[in-house]
Amino acid sequence: MLRILRRFGLVTCSAITTVLTAGLVYWIEDKTRFSLYRFTFWFIMPAGAFICGVAGASGAFFGSRVLNARPGKHLAALVAADSLLMFFSLNWLEYSLAQVHGLRLHDEVSFATYLAYMLSHASINTMGLFSASIGWGGYFFALLDFVGFFFGARSLLAGLSKLPYCEKCDLFFRKKGEQNRYFQWEEDLTAAMKAVILKIKQEGLQVGVAAHAALGSAARTELTDYVSRLDICQCNGCAIRRFGLAGKQKEGKLWKPIKGLELTLLYKTSAQSTVAPDSMGS
Ligand SMILES: [Zn+2]
Repeated sequence: MLRILRRFGLVTCSAITTVLTAGLVYWIEDKTRFSLYRFTFWFIMPAGAFICGVAGASGAFFGSRVLNARPGKHLAALVAADSLLMFFSLNWLEYSLAQVHGLRLHDEVSFATYLAYMLSHASINTMGLFSASIGWGGYFFALLDFVGFFFGARSLLAGLSKLPYCEKCDLFFRKKGEQNRYFQWEEDLTAAMKAVILKIKQEGLQVGVAAHAALGSAARTELTDYVSRLDICQCNGCAIRRFGLAGKQKEGKLWKPIKGLELTLLYKTSAQSTVAPDSMGS
């Protein structure tokens, strides 16, 4: 039941920011005559629609984290629904607020009639200059809008799929603690991490964590471009914990994971000292 409510909350958050984004885009268009969502590069790269997609999906992104609701395998469906809502919201706003010769379009024709006409009588806007009608090509540009919304929303929400979660409860793990140990040389990092991993496998997690705390330096300096990052998260559903150990290298402003230098374990809080290597999970 809770899972359904969380999902409902996620969809609601997503719908709210999508409609708000459509409203903002329409407002900008009304004030400046600049239609952000129709802005393209080389006529076929829907850059404006991509930006709208990102903004529209922001509600789903934050809603997912706050409500602990993973889109999971429903991510594509959520993004597609978001994109369709964005498309229809924008067109409905234009339809409902448009006036022709002092008459409100809304009072004269149905939304379906309006949309069918607009899609089959589209023209290209190049720096404010409109081409002659390109007829049914309007459907192509509508599809481009949808593609832009879709990939914009997906680019933002795809990050959610990479966050660790409890497979049993379908909840994100919540961080309980983190420990960073810094090193100047990669060889020192590798040796330290291998020693910690061996300790964990032979003597248990608590001994391994204590060994980790004694290695390297606790403070980062300009010379220490390598880190061994230990983090412990917990599932709020079943209380299972996730232990993660990862070696990373500083590259620019980011810490990039070093391949092969990682260990992940799932364990129950009551049995943390007897974690076996075969309980490794993702
Ligand atoms: Zn769980």
